Amino acid sequence: MKNIIAIDGPSGVGKSTAAKRVASLLNWSYMDTGAMYRAVTLALLRTNVSIDDKTGLKRVLASLDYKQLGELFFINGEDVSEAIRNSEVTKNVSAVSADGSVREALVRLQRELGKNGKWVVDGRDIGSVVFPDAARKIFLTASQEVRAQRRFLELKAKGIQTTFEEVLKDQVRRDHIDSTRDISPLRKADGAVELDSSNLSLEEVVDIIISYQNYIPALNSRTHRHYKT
Ligand code: C5P
Repeated sequence: MKNIIAIDGPSGVGKSTAAKRVASLLNWSYMDTGAMYRAVTLALLRTNVSIDDKTGLKRVLASLDYKQLGELFFINGEDVSEAIRNSEVTKNVSAVSADGSVREALVRLQRELGKNGKWVVDGRDIGSVVFPDAARKIFLTASQEVRAQRRFLELKAKGIQTTFEEVLKDQVRRDHIDSTRDISPLRKADGAVELDSSNLSLEEVVDIIISYQNYIPALNSRTHRHYKT
């Protein structure tokens, strides 16, 4: 699929910031699949439906009208852009996204959207499951400490009270659930380029991803480490 750039990786690695920037530079659209899993989680929390209640879950999934318009996310016409980032959603989203029927519904939606236009898509299973034929597949990584520090500073800048230790603990927990679940666990997709961003700025990550536009396929499976001098 020439119209898809897939960016996967663990929590807090800066996928969405990089993906948004790449999309804007190429004049492509950006699809935030994490926001979709968050929207389902929010809908379940609001309706008090547990992930184990299969009938309730089916009802919630059937009634969920999800839309992303630029930076904004809507469910059934309501702007939930802030609500899907709250700590209750963040705490529960990994358990919700491990459910097979949730994944089936959202993968269908992602593929439907991907049929038209050009997309930079970020998530956990984009290169491995959703769009295995994507034109470019990036697996973005960074050390646990670097990721937790970035996330901690981001939350602090937003005025959210937390500690580095708390952020790190939550991140380790989410990584564990995301990478050990039975269905579509987080992993580097076949043919993906691994990019370690621990010592890279956002602009450097973006430049490297854009430079893969002219990438030599034979190098695709190697790990690329780029360090600032
Ligand atoms: O990207 P973000 O951190 O907002 O994603 C929230 C959660 O959604 C992740 O921790 C993961 O459990 C889930 N997710 C997923 N598959 C995707 C995108 C996100 O399972 N493609």
